[in-house]
Amino acid sequence: MIQRVCILGSTGSVGVSTLDVLGRHPERYEVFALTAHSRIDDLFAQCMRWRPRFAAVADASQASVLQARLREARCSTEVLVGPQALCDLAAHPEVDAVMAAIVGAAGLGPCLAAARAGKRLLLANKEALVVGGALFMQAVQEGGSALLPIDSEHSAIFQCLPADRSAWHSHIDHILLTASGGPFRTRDPSTLHTVTPDEAVAHPNWVMGRKISVDSATMMNKALEVIEARWLFDLQPEQVRVVIHPQSIVHSMVVCRDNSVLAQLGTPDMRVPIAVGLAFPERIESGASQLDFMSMGNLTFEAPDFTRYPGLQLAWDTLRGTPGSTAVLNAANEIAVAAFLEGAIGFDRIHGVNAETLATLAIGATDAHSIDGLIALDQRARAQAADIAKRYAR
Ligand code: NAD
Ligand code: MG
Repeated sequence: MIQRVCILGSTGSVGVSTLDVLGRHPERYEVFALTAHSRIDDLFAQCMRWRPRFAAVADASQASVLQARLREARCSTEVLVGPQALCDLAAHPEVDAVMAAIVGAAGLGPCLAAARAGKRLLLANKEALVVGGALFMQAVQEGGSALLPIDSEHSAIFQCLPADRSAWHSHIDHILLTASGGPFRTRDPSTLHTVTPDEAVAHPNWVMGRKISVDSATMMNKALEVIEARWLFDLQPEQVRVVIHPQSIVHSMVVCRDNSVLAQLGTPDMRVPIAVGLAFPERIESGASQLDFMSMGNLTFEAPDFTRYPGLQLAWDTLRGTPGSTAVLNAANEIAVAAFLEGAIGFDRIHGVNAETLATLAIGATDAHSIDGLIALDQRARAQAADIAKRYAR
């Protein structure tokens, strides 16, 4: 039967790659809904091409302009508005699969709505899981949702594990998330204060949205992925390890109890994990090019340098800290990265904002007991991080 897909964040890097994969399989998939926050022209073009039943945007004036343009172009897509519309679409009875490709904690609500409604949930939006943690996983379980990781590392781990989830625990000794090290792996650390946003978003191997690209340069992306892996695969923090692999060919590895190591390899192309998530347990064409082992050259591995990437350590610190700490880290980082991209603080200050927010924000004993508590904590952490960033402003 044809699968109806809702793409949250369809105008972003993962959203566009998702549409590319869907377009290769019109007999399997239909686009039911598309949502975007900005780039309304792109969303208009996507609606014209895919003719979804619904589109959703953030603000009412954008919605009415888009609706008028679509009407004029004789496109019957209905335009909805606001955060509740994203949740409604993610949980819509006619939707089979939801691609969560919004960036940041803003994606948490719609992800939970999809999980509770028992959808196949393709999770690119790692921040939602970092904030929601145990409660997110509980919603997935209670809703009977199939959670498919889209982050390439987590898709790699998923592909190396048996289909039967109940066997995961007995299989895994630990996992190794690979990290490229980003654009500043060999740059003199004393020059990091001069880094411009354009330099920071120029990732050596992947083309991605601006926020995750900055996170890759600081390795906060890997920190978020350590936290994400802890929840996706139900691991202890020390069972999640990181190794630098600059070529981004080995996407991650599972070290089994018997010390056999399983790895997943491929060209760095998000259409592979997207195709896996869409079709699992089947395999479909993704559009990615094949690896050429004859011309590939060396694959190298090295230990991460925690002085160059001080934010990486915060993953394990927050996982072992007061419940809610990972949500605080994520919120602070969203503020710090936005401040850096706006030119308000230096690249080398991002870590300071994150560490200081974690050190100074008091987390209440019950903050992590409910999603509302976590969202309130996220808001307080943003306010605190913004104050700290102001002090660091240049
Ligand atoms: P992007 O910035 O290219 O796209 C983000 C999308 O989310 C856009 O469609 C935007 O309109 C929408 N959006 C932004 N803020 C929103 C808000 N407040 N409310 C609703 N919608 C909003 O980002 P991306 O690179 O596609 O990344 C998306 C997510 O996938 C992130 O969580 C990222 O960490 C994760 N991810 C991305 C890649 C990649 O290759 N790009 C790889 C792994 C994981
Ligand atoms: Mg990743």
